[in-house]
Amino acid sequence: MSEILVLVEHVEGQVKKVTLELLTLARKLGTPSAVWAGPGYSPDAKARLAEYGAEKIYLADSADISDYVVAPKAELLAQLVSEKSPAAVLVAATAEAKEIAGRLAIKIDSGVLTDVVGLQDGLVADQSIFGGGVNVQSRVTKGTPIVAVRPNSTPVEAAAGAGAEEQVSVTVSAAAKGAKVVDRVKEEKGARPELTEAAIVVSGGRGVGSAENFSIIEKLADSLGAAVGASRAATDAGWYPHQFQVGQTGKTVSPQLYIAAGISGAIQHRAGMQTAKTIIAINKDPEAPIFELADFGVVGDLHQVVPQLTDEVVKRK
Ligand SMILES: Cc1cc2nc3c(=O)[nH]c(=O)nc-3n(C[C@H](O)[C@H](O)[C@H](O)COP(=O)(O)OP(=O)(O)OC[C@H]3O[C@@H](n4cnc5c(N)ncnc54)[C@H](O)[C@@H]3O)c2cc1C
Repeated sequence: MSEILVLVEHVEGQVKKVTLELLTLARKLGTPSAVWAGPGYSPDAKARLAEYGAEKIYLADSADISDYVVAPKAELLAQLVSEKSPAAVLVAATAEAKEIAGRLAIKIDSGVLTDVVGLQDGLVADQSIFGGGVNVQSRVTKGTPIVAVRPNSTPVEAAAGAGAEEQVSVTVSAAAKGAKVVDRVKEEKGARPELTEAAIVVSGGRGVGSAENFSIIEKLADSLGAAVGASRAATDAGWYPHQFQVGQTGKTVSPQLYIAAGISGAIQHRAGMQTAKTIIAINKDPEAPIFELADFGVVGDLHQVVPQLTDEVVKRK
């Protein structure tokens, strides 16, 4: 079976869930090999990668790899592509990995597909394009395909792989050292899951009415173990921080469940959430466009509906 390279996403030595999704996907297409770039590798990380099917783990764990933003990672992958001739390279469709994918495509003279939500035999990708307005099937026709897959688009399945480690030495070029990371500041995070990785997202829009009222959105999210999102109308109004904006100019999410409260469903908002598996809309206007997209809809005032929903969820726990 052909080798498929999977670039590992990791934070403080922890393998992120999207990598397990990529390994699951890679197993259907060939033999997955994980590529670990930067420090933090540990026996736990190895066990996790092997549990989800990594036959090999290429290790490039020097600080050089992560000290110069994304360029060294693209060089590492280019080197592995030339040495191992894999059938494809899979990365997560995160901002950083998409930049790595683009740089890699230039280096190896290949094609790149982004925002992929599924992969079929022959590396035919299901892709959500033009801000999510159109779904297409695409295939890279030149070189080694590079595919950036959206987090949460593949259910994870464990299946043990050998996890054989192979050290890779990379000489990072002078050009790749053009910008050095001089400091890293840990973002203060609450107990909620990361927005782009959460299985459930509860988002509020202009209908929420104020920053204070966002507490009802947060309570519902917390009762469900969900992340909180917001429309641009809500973030522009200063009711919720911009980093939680969902949409064309915000984050793209593909959760199992997306609850949109007081959001009209503008095309730019849909672009960030319409690949969610199930969508519930709460809106007082029965004509709101979000209902065209929703699997379930509640026509009503969110200030009444959301707290009642939270109470019901809490009661059933
Ligand atoms: C270039 C560009 C990029 C953009 N990028 C983004 C983006 O990334 N993300 C994004 O979200 N938008 C984006 N927008 C803005 C987008 O066009 C919409 O303006 C925005 O999504 C509207 O947000 P909203 O649905 O919260 O507000 P509105 O469109 O004003 O809708 C509010 C909704 O709340 C309902 N409502 C009001 N009160 C209640 C209540 N008490 N109970 C229940 N329902 C209630 C109303 O019926 C209405 O449907 C972008 C626009 C442009 C031009």
